[in-house]
Amino acid sequence: MANRLDRQAKSEIFSISINHNLNTMDTNILVIYTGGTIGMIKDPKTGALAPFNFDALYKHIPILENFNYQIDSYCFDPLIDSSNMKPAFWIRLAEVIEANYEKYDGFVVLHGTDTMAYTASVLSFMLENLNKPVVFTGSQLPMGVLRTDGRENFINAIEIAAAREDQTPIVPEVSICFENRLMRGNRTNKFNAENFNAFLSGNYPLLAQVGVHIRYNPQYILRPNFKMLKVHKQLDPNVAILKLFPGITENVIQSILGIRDLKAIILETYGAGNAPTDEWFIRDLKSAIAGGITIFNVTQCKGGSVEMGKYETSIQLESIGVVGGFDITTESAIAKTMFLLGEGYSGAELAGKLQSPLRGELTIE
Ligand code: ASP
Repeated sequence: MANRLDRQAKSEIFSISINHNLNTMDTNILVIYTGGTIGMIKDPKTGALAPFNFDALYKHIPILENFNYQIDSYCFDPLIDSSNMKPAFWIRLAEVIEANYEKYDGFVVLHGTDTMAYTASVLSFMLENLNKPVVFTGSQLPMGVLRTDGRENFINAIEIAAAREDQTPIVPEVSICFENRLMRGNRTNKFNAENFNAFLSGNYPLLAQVGVHIRYNPQYILRPNFKMLKVHKQLDPNVAILKLFPGITENVIQSILGIRDLKAIILETYGAGNAPTDEWFIRDLKSAIAGGITIFNVTQCKGGSVEMGKYETSIQLESIGVVGGFDITTESAIAKTMFLLGEGYSGAELAGKLQSPLRGELTIE
């Protein structure tokens, strides 16, 4: 399977020589187009947005010719609206990067904004020992629209993917470049469906700010370890997100905890990791944990951290064995849990890994 995909990945790449004097190009960037608004255009007949041929992107960005880089592209077929994202697609995406890892200095992934934070999070876990930039970007307005934010996002992402200092990539991690801000991918969520400024990194500083210059913040960027890339391709989707709300009933809790084959729950709690203290609520969680389900406590807040034991309303969660998620996002928590379950972790080992930063996704207070 992997071999077939590797061959496919290589054969589908087409090259766009931006500078015709190939000898001067010592930077190679692979643009991977998965779909999403950035590459969409209005169908004149229906008025609906649909993906268009990747080649056409370059018609809209003649300025790309000013880069002295070799820019190749890989186009997924079919292109998808990222609301249709699935683990199988994540695995293909990781395989495309793996198959082309040696050949390129950096990767730009064009992706719909709706699930970009999930994809960037999961890729950060799947790509162990990543020593090259993988920069996700997209747009709120299609490239073909005059006021598009896609052109700037795309150009910034290419420049960041190509940036090196002393032959070492400046941002050798999975990031999201959006509206002049570069964020660690596994720290983001999409928080705005209207503004160009659509992504938030509520618990981690920006990796770079794009203005007249691109100002990198090296103190916040992961350092390369120069080890061999290891791509993890097993993801276990037997997980669920349970978001608390005032009035949630035992029926809802029991239905979710009773899902067949369920191995882990991301429990979205209030504030610093707080939950109701009703006797039935604690009893149901306790018996789920006794039955082998891992419960990972993540806050509903966009900033701040879970601190079990700070309030009376979280002491019992701690005592029954709920695992505190510190300041991890829900997107990153679900991605990390699928990844660790896929790697075969369970019980105390799974809890230990969930609570340790693997790719800079959480900060232990
Ligand atoms: N529905 C689109 C997607 O996520 C939205 C976007 O690209 O901004 O693919």
